Amino acid sequence: MDVFNVFNHANFTALNTTLNFAAYPQSNGVVTGLPALASNATPYNAAGRTARPAVAGSLLVLSSGGVLIEVAFFCFVDRLREEPIMALSRRSFALSAAAASLVEAQEKKTLTAGEVIERIKKNVGVPWRAETVDTIKSGGADTPVTGIATTMMATLDAVERASAAGKNMVITHEPTFYSHEDKTDALKEDPTYRFKQDFLDRHQMVVFRFHDHWHAHRPDGIATGMTEALGWGKNADPANPRQFLFDGITLGALAKQMQDKLKIRAMRVVGDPDLKVRSVSANWGYAGSLRPFMRPDLDSLIIGEAREWELIEYAADTITSGKKKGLIVLGHIPSEQAGMKYCADWLKTFITEVPVEFVPAAEPFWRPDAG
Ligand SMILES: [Zn+2]
Repeated sequence: MDVFNVFNHANFTALNTTLNFAAYPQSNGVVTGLPALASNATPYNAAGRTARPAVAGSLLVLSSGGVLIEVAFFCFVDRLREEPIMALSRRSFALSAAAASLVEAQEKKTLTAGEVIERIKKNVGVPWRAETVDTIKSGGADTPVTGIATTMMATLDAVERASAAGKNMVITHEPTFYSHEDKTDALKEDPTYRFKQDFLDRHQMVVFRFHDHWHAHRPDGIATGMTEALGWGKNADPANPRQFLFDGITLGALAKQMQDKLKIRAMRVVGDPDLKVRSVSANWGYAGSLRPFMRPDLDSLIIGEAREWELIEYAADTITSGKKKGLIVLGHIPSEQAGMKYCADWLKTFITEVPVEFVPAAEPFWRPDAG
């Protein structure tokens, strides 16, 4: 095997033109891969015989001062002797500090799920709680991440679509295994649980829940995404981002607007459709208390879901007793979904090594009259 330096070795002088060294794939001015070899490359080996390009590889070396030196290796096979020979090229790129750190991270190429979680903890802006459901539900922290999918609920359907899109880390707002604590002891032999867990294991996926701290983030990540999706920034009460002011829109029109903007198939409403709405509070997700509906300063409440024999019955009784009030029940997934779309945008501000994508969870319900 002969080793040549294409810039310094006489026998390879001509190669710099035949090998298309200029065509380094780049992103934002940073070299992200190997230079392309011209298809008509006809390099010569030391004996002057033609060789065909076979394999190429490269090593990125970052020197101090942000100068990237790329050493690219090209392997050629002597056409006559079928003997491999090596070519070596060297390139230097002056990089900005930011680009240099990006390259450094790209070079590392093993962003683990644990490192993603550490970055979330560092960027979320609130102290990480000792007691929290925001933990890994499946997979290990040392798993290398190929891509990140954020979703409202890590349903089997959502994780299958994340995996098909090449994302092996799922960041979910709601549980994976059917209870707030994701306890699986009673599910070990259950075929649905087994099917889902087997899928996650087989595809080396990591599921991380991001619930408590996304709500604790200021402003609340879910509320921010929902307000943006509804285009209600101008209606938000400056004193309370979960409260919105309207100019007497009817309850029916308000519900229709939400149905259209959030593309909901099966939402439900309690109250008179002609009720004029001026002040409404949004309880995105599960509403576990009667309190928000009791408030005399609000004429309507928006929730994801509640028990029908608790808040829903209380709302019906309040209206029957003569109060002018409305309750809009969106369904849990549509009531928080846009908050996890916003989460993908937020993650992209500090995770650049792997693709981050929002994978929507499907609304589970359909209506027989919807056609
Ligand atoms: Zn929530």
